[in-house]
Amino acid sequence: MSSGTALVSNIQKYTIHDGPGIRTEIFFTGCTLRCLWCSNPETIEPRARLGVYPSKCISREKCGWCVAACPIGGAPLVFGDDGVIERVEPSPECRDCFKCADKCPPRALKTWGTRYTVDELLNIVLEDESFYRRSGGGVTLSGGEPIMQWEFARELLRRCRDAGVNTCVETALHVPWDSAAAVFDYTDLVITDVKHMDTEKHREYCGAGNELILANIRKTSERGLPIVVRTPIVPQYNADDANIRATAEFLASLPVAPVAWQLLPYRKMGTEKYDSLGLSYPLGDYEPPPRDEWERNLVRLTEMVRTEYGLSAVAGSSETLAV
Ligand code: SF4
Ligand code: SF4
Repeated sequence: MSSGTALVSNIQKYTIHDGPGIRTEIFFTGCTLRCLWCSNPETIEPRARLGVYPSKCISREKCGWCVAACPIGGAPLVFGDDGVIERVEPSPECRDCFKCADKCPPRALKTWGTRYTVDELLNIVLEDESFYRRSGGGVTLSGGEPIMQWEFARELLRRCRDAGVNTCVETALHVPWDSAAAVFDYTDLVITDVKHMDTEKHREYCGAGNELILANIRKTSERGLPIVVRTPIVPQYNADDANIRATAEFLASLPVAPVAWQLLPYRKMGTEKYDSLGLSYPLGDYEPPPRDEWERNLVRLTEMVRTEYGLSAVAGSSETLAV
């Protein structure tokens, strides 16, 4: 794999939840898991994709710039009877040139996925150096799975470090350890997930067993890197006491305790992105129990693992990270 360019689905500035201080967060495209509650479906496939937002379309009759820009005459672009864009039909002729989206004035067509060089991303990161200095912030690589593009990620983090920028990687750690270790040479903080301790349930909910993830968390801890662990708490999937206790026992057995274990409340997010990509939300119509009920349970679970296992557990991700 070359470190020449990386496919990035989004860059968010001034984020405050994924690492200490004010950060620039870069979302890499491509993921090794398929979690049912994923809120970033645009990052799953390791390729650029078109998102369609019909409510923004002016109509083919009044605009039609997408069709005019398309080198194959707009064949994959499907419009409704009212002339409004409906969807992009998968087509072997489509060249993935994204000229249709580039020319769409109201962004009813949006390209998810852009290639960047290390220099381009470094320049974007350094635009906010003064915010990082004042807040103790820096850069966070997220996704998708940033370690899928590990050579690029390593080089970008090395350059950020050289420039005095704090570095954080948010990874599911379902990756070969050697790739993770290479990226961690230039990483100040690792944020990772434990979604279920039962490997069969993990496979059912996330598309793969948990053995590699747990082994990599242990290796990361053995290396002495600060780790923030997250568990998205999804009632009826992983929110039972037995699973939370099993997770607590695993985390308490690590050579270096995580700096924080964040139990995150499930929120149904990203559904408009699923729609725009022509995908169904994997949890369908699933609704958690009434909010006051399951948020009380979240606080109870957090308190339980704090007092019984001595872990730095918090409900949510908004507490300041002292790392
Ligand atoms: S991506 Fe390119 S070829 Fe495909 S529909 Fe858009 S403009 Fe046409
Ligand atoms: S360019 Fe955009 S707004 Fe214009 S017709 Fe095409 S999809 Fe609709």
